[in-house]
Amino acid sequence: MPAPYDSFYTPPSQIQNDFITLSDKEAHHIINVLRKKSGEIITIIDGLGHIYKCEITNTQNNILKAKIISTLEENNESNTELTLAIAIPKKGKFELIIEKCTELGVKKFIPLLSERTQVKAKSINHNRCKKIAISAMKQSLRSFLPEVEQPIHLNKLMQRNNFDLKIIAHEKINDNTIHKTLSNAKTARKVILAIGPEGGFSEEEILVFKQSGYTPVSLGKRRLRTETAAITASAIILDTLETNQ
Ligand code: SAH
Repeated sequence: MPAPYDSFYTPPSQIQNDFITLSDKEAHHIINVLRKKSGEIITIIDGLGHIYKCEITNTQNNILKAKIISTLEENNESNTELTLAIAIPKKGKFELIIEKCTELGVKKFIPLLSERTQVKAKSINHNRCKKIAISAMKQSLRSFLPEVEQPIHLNKLMQRNNFDLKIIAHEKINDNTIHKTLSNAKTARKVILAIGPEGGFSEEEILVFKQSGYTPVSLGKRRLRTETAAITASAIILDTLETNQ
């Protein structure tokens, strides 16, 4: 049974023995907006698949303390662990990708710095991205929180090899579709998908990806924006591989 829609999020570090202590915006929302009182029951999720049914025991000083009454393990996740390596697009687009691809079931986001990314390192607002992922996790009734890594350079990504299938979406490919690649990799579980920036990946970068075992795929004849390509390709991969299971 998925996490209820009105569940609240706690970082796992806030769970000690049978008590959960919230002191952030979530606590403020519960205490001052929803005006929940001691004795009331709420559901808290930790982003690691646990759903805690809790009784509020204290709401003083804007700190919410709740006692865990019961714990459910929930895996509303896809069997496919999809990592999305995304060359950081212009402001706001990256956050849109986080929200939509969290809803779709992406497991991890790796912001990439490539030749043509318009932005410099540390350019993502990591805190904001995490908040967007938490909100999208709750809204989509997931109980696992996707990880948003700190930006890395494309060359560093080539050192990551723990995948069954590595795909790079490239608009200049016309002899291999994503469907064709997926149909030859039905049993893939750990998948990584790379998407380029507004300026695309350079031919040298495509070569580096190929040499590292990435299969270039087309997403069709139309040229998609980075965010459209990321969301579309994630949906295709997750839906196709999940249907095969
Ligand atoms: N600057 C390029 C377009 C880049 S689009 C040009 O002008 O042609 C941004 C990214 O979205 C690309 O790097 C690629 O990863 C992906 N993408 C966009 N359209 C695509 C398509 N039809 N097939 C595969 N990937 C695509």
